[in-house]
Amino acid sequence: MENQNSAQLGCTHCACNNPMWNILEEELFHPEKILKTAEGLTHQIHAEALSLVISGGTIRPLTDGKMDNVEAIGIHHGKVIATGSKAAVEAEMQKKGIAFEFKQLQDAEVLLPGFIDPHVHIVPTALLMGWMDLGRFDNQKLKPEYNEQTIGVIINKERTGPNREKYDKGNWLLGKGADPALMPFVHDPKAANGIGLTTFTCDSLDEIVKDVPLMMLSASMHTAYVNTKAMQLTYDHTPEIHNKMTFEEYKASNHGQLQEGVGMEPALKTIPLSQLSEMVIGCFSHLKTFFEEANKRGHTFLYDAGMNDAFKSLLKIYLHFYPNNIRIGAAKMCSSQADADKLKQYEPVTEYSDVYYGNAKIISDGSNQGLTGYQSEHYCCLPDSKGKFNFTADGDPEPVEVPAPYKELLNTVAIKKGWPLMTHANGDQAINFTIQVYDELIKTQTGTPVRHRIEHASLLSDQNIKDIKRLEILPSFLIGHVGYWGYAFRDAIFGEKAEILDRCKSALDAGIKISLHTDCEVTQLGPLRMMEQSITRIMEAAPGNPEENVLNAAECISPEQALRTVTTDAAYHCYAEKWVGSLAVGHFSDFVILQQDPLHLESNYMQMRDIKVLETWKGGVMVYQLPVPEQVSLVND
Ligand SMILES: [Zn+2]
Ligand SMILES: [Zn+2]
Repeated sequence: MENQNSAQLGCTHCACNNPMWNILEEELFHPEKILKTAEGLTHQIHAEALSLVISGGTIRPLTDGKMDNVEAIGIHHGKVIATGSKAAVEAEMQKKGIAFEFKQLQDAEVLLPGFIDPHVHIVPTALLMGWMDLGRFDNQKLKPEYNEQTIGVIINKERTGPNREKYDKGNWLLGKGADPALMPFVHDPKAANGIGLTTFTCDSLDEIVKDVPLMMLSASMHTAYVNTKAMQLTYDHTPEIHNKMTFEEYKASNHGQLQEGVGMEPALKTIPLSQLSEMVIGCFSHLKTFFEEANKRGHTFLYDAGMNDAFKSLLKIYLHFYPNNIRIGAAKMCSSQADADKLKQYEPVTEYSDVYYGNAKIISDGSNQGLTGYQSEHYCCLPDSKGKFNFTADGDPEPVEVPAPYKELLNTVAIKKGWPLMTHANGDQAINFTIQVYDELIKTQTGTPVRHRIEHASLLSDQNIKDIKRLEILPSFLIGHVGYWGYAFRDAIFGEKAEILDRCKSALDAGIKISLHTDCEVTQLGPLRMMEQSITRIMEAAPGNPEENVLNAAECISPEQALRTVTTDAAYHCYAEKWVGSLAVGHFSDFVILQQDPLHLESNYMQMRDIKVLETWKGGVMVYQLPVPEQVSLVND
């Protein structure tokens, strides 16, 4: 497990705000550098939107969140013109003088609004694409075997592969996604029930590779694990460290577990700049891959949960030169009181534009699977820690009441500057604090009410749910917490408390609008997989019969309810319901055609996530089509 007591522990962030980016930003995001990467590109000419009347199959526009089918839909100039009977849609198109063509769906095919992920991290995901993937995910599924040995195999393959000369000459081995919470549990006599998580140290990393510096970023993004070689280079390169202590003292102070920005910064700054620059140079092609992947999974809209000005300008340049195949909204990152003071007054978005700002993003605590989410009680597997709250008063690392700096921060952002909040709160105590502050703020708020979100909102009590309803707060759940990490939460991290993870059904029953998100790249984009995990709540890492590994069956939701969490209600969470989320007349003609209907599968588990996306359309332009060979193989299956 990650060393919570390290003297290095600084300000804790979640994957929402990997401290790495702040460090690298100065080094890498010079405008000239970004523009240099775009050299030689020409401005993209966008394909023209088609005018179509689409009929056949099942067409479900989800207007007002209703599941009703229509016979046809008419689109023109990137917008929906009409839905209803085929005759009525044709008549409406003709009345408007629109020349159109017909498109016919196969019987089993289903047309739905394009999927929305209301919480992802676009640029950070693209930047890390060149790093070794040391996580447990194989696309939408968990790799069957995942431990220190399997990680070691990947690292050594890279060390001895085509890049080996670069490593001989000083490059670092860089990996991401290392996840002790998804490895086999270990016996730990200190843990409440004797079950602990794997711990990486410089010694265990030395057993993987010794001669080349190695850094592995944890999946929770809070920790960088380094081997002794990397520690030695960092020590030699950093006067603040080597003037203060011996190498042995440095090593003993963290055991190769570098926590948060404070701990990681010296090591990151020791990596050769030429190697880091390659990350930025590769960024545009990585962004292209990322957006293609999003379209392939049926996405037409992504909401970035940690945008800053550097990332935004990078995206703007990208969108100028590359196909613009996805709509993007964002929350503006606000990491400190100084950031809050600098925020401009909020201006509500009236018309869609790429990378519009809908919220301000605050990160109140860490990650539950990273054991840094801030709890009211100690972690089972870490009995001396309640996690970490990010905005505490001096000298009180484990506050039991809302810390004044936190109130001040949210007050500045929401009341003084008028921004809708999007606050990351994972641990139950962080959630309690956040709801309490929202309650006070909302009382003093005047004018049009704004939509405040809570991100992850992982552990909710009955009282929390009542308050969330009363205050009209919008919770968005990282549903992979149940599907992928549910087993670790129940058996190692929380015990019984895991039952109150992602209470989708209780929230819906209370009349709350919920959404599901991937927090990509904490989990990979996958709207159908998220739906499936909210419907089955099967803990995929648990041994034995999946049907017997359901985490609190009372919180399972129906396929219809799940569909709204990635379409209409996700749009509402992003202030985007006037444009997307449903195919109501006047909305963008952003839609997806699936090979099967996710509302009528015989069995959902491991099936819904595999439904093929046949086509994805954005604004009347087809931006993805399943390659023909795969379509053929489907028929043969
Ligand atoms: Zn977060
Ligand atoms: Zn996030």
